[in-house]
Amino acid sequence: MPLCFDLDGTLGHFSSGFVLLREALGGLWGGAPTAEELGRCGGSTDWEIVDELHRMRFGLPLTEAGYADYERACVARFQAAFAPGGLAPAAYAGILAGLHRLAARHRVWLVSGNAPALLAFKAEALGIDPAIPRLGSLPGHDRAGLIRRALEGCPGPHLYVGDRPHDLAAARVAGVPFLGIGGAVPGDHPLLDAAAEADHLVQAVEALLSGP
Ligand SMILES: [Mg+2]
Repeated sequence: MPLCFDLDGTLGHFSSGFVLLREALGGLWGGAPTAEELGRCGGSTDWEIVDELHRMRFGLPLTEAGYADYERACVARFQAAFAPGGLAPAAYAGILAGLHRLAARHRVWLVSGNAPALLAFKAEALGIDPAIPRLGSLPGHDRAGLIRRALEGCPGPHLYVGDRPHDLAAARVAGVPFLGIGGAVPGDHPLLDAAAEADHLVQAVEALLSGP
């Protein structure tokens, strides 16, 4: 039974992420998208967001080659910004420890809106076991599509763990239960603080999997 975790805001955070995304596109497109343009994007994955920004700028959909260019440029920005002596991500130590404990008993996946190479960089920076499969933002997929892809062929019950309303919405569309992390995803689902300890995460997940 795959337990799928979002990364940004769920397992830790990289505070300058959207600045680096805009800078990466600025280098490729001859001018960075504005914060206002970024705010008009409705998607929650890199493919959706960069496609929306590309349509605003050029009036054309993003190509897969254009997405690959973005992915390379964005990873390079993150590698430079988060190099030793530079910025450091905030890791949610208890949540991460709980994730690894759950991975010893269940199938656990990272299912994130980051482009795959960026997800790989962030997972390594947060010290996540490389044996845990990662599914990043793919062309033509929204977040619910990514969750469905992670669950393909696997018997339920499943679970999505995330920190934002778009994570909750994607879990609902994919038909899986949801566990929230932090204060930015209100609702009647179970919710843990980002500073929760490993035991709290494991107990919350096991309670959800055992049903009402
Ligand atoms: Mg998130």
